[in-house]
Amino acid sequence: MLVDYHVHTPYCGHAQGKIIDYIESGIAAGLSEIGFADHLGRYYLSRSQKRRYWDWGMDEKACSRYFEELAGLRDVYNDRIAIKIGMEVDFIAGAEDIAGQLIEKFPCDFILGSIHCLPEFGWRHLAETSLNDTSVMYAAYFTQACECVKSGLFNSLAHLDFIWRYVKWPKRKSIDVYPMIHDAVSCAAKNDCCIEINANGYLWSQLYTIRQGDPFAYMIKSINEENVAVTIGSDAHSPSHVAKLFPQLIEYLGTEGIRQVEVLTKKKRKSVTLKTG
Ligand SMILES: [Zn+2]
Ligand SMILES: [Zn+2]
Repeated sequence: MLVDYHVHTPYCGHAQGKIIDYIESGIAAGLSEIGFADHLGRYYLSRSQKRRYWDWGMDEKACSRYFEELAGLRDVYNDRIAIKIGMEVDFIAGAEDIAGQLIEKFPCDFILGSIHCLPEFGWRHLAETSLNDTSVMYAAYFTQACECVKSGLFNSLAHLDFIWRYVKWPKRKSIDVYPMIHDAVSCAAKNDCCIEINANGYLWSQLYTIRQGDPFAYMIKSINEENVAVTIGSDAHSPSHVAKLFPQLIEYLGTEGIRQVEVLTKKKRKSVTLKTG
């Protein structure tokens, strides 16, 4: 089976194209299931903070329309592709109750938990936060990743690789990131939360190395070692990126012993075998 469980829509305000084009692109790529996971807005910001900082997600009204439109399309496309409706939700320690209440309001098939910002370093997106010594950010990020899977709010921890794609790898000797990656993966295994394999993380690892190292490959090995369930997603923000690089990514995962991914319906998980088509 071929599935993509991380697809955005124009509802978040920063993805391109029409929803039907994402679906058609998924069908053309041979997907059996397409899982939309658009961003829930930054529920943890105050009204004045929302004016100051970029809100990369949907407010409640937009969420209602998003669920309604996708539910309609799910019926229309029923015999061609299974449409699953989820959300990508920022994890912010201390705001779990608010997140939980919002998630409850919508009939989600799955929820991805993400860390796009670390409040102790400001409310900006990690890509816009720069520090000379990034080791403190890395330490905070992986602590949050563990808290995120422990919260029980999420079905899968999205793009653990996000930090090294957007924040400079800490200086030599200041901190060892690899054990932190392993701890986050093992934390997910203990809390029965999936880890997402994100095509952007894979793409990044094909383009860059960090001092001859490859943290993405290390993460994949840790996932296999800890035997943690995974979801797979392109993180497409435009229709042509649905299932991007999946044939190469799936082949690579197979060589690392990962052949099963999870699909979800109303948050119930089922393992399926990945197939390139
Ligand atoms: Zn994200
Ligand atoms: Zn995303």
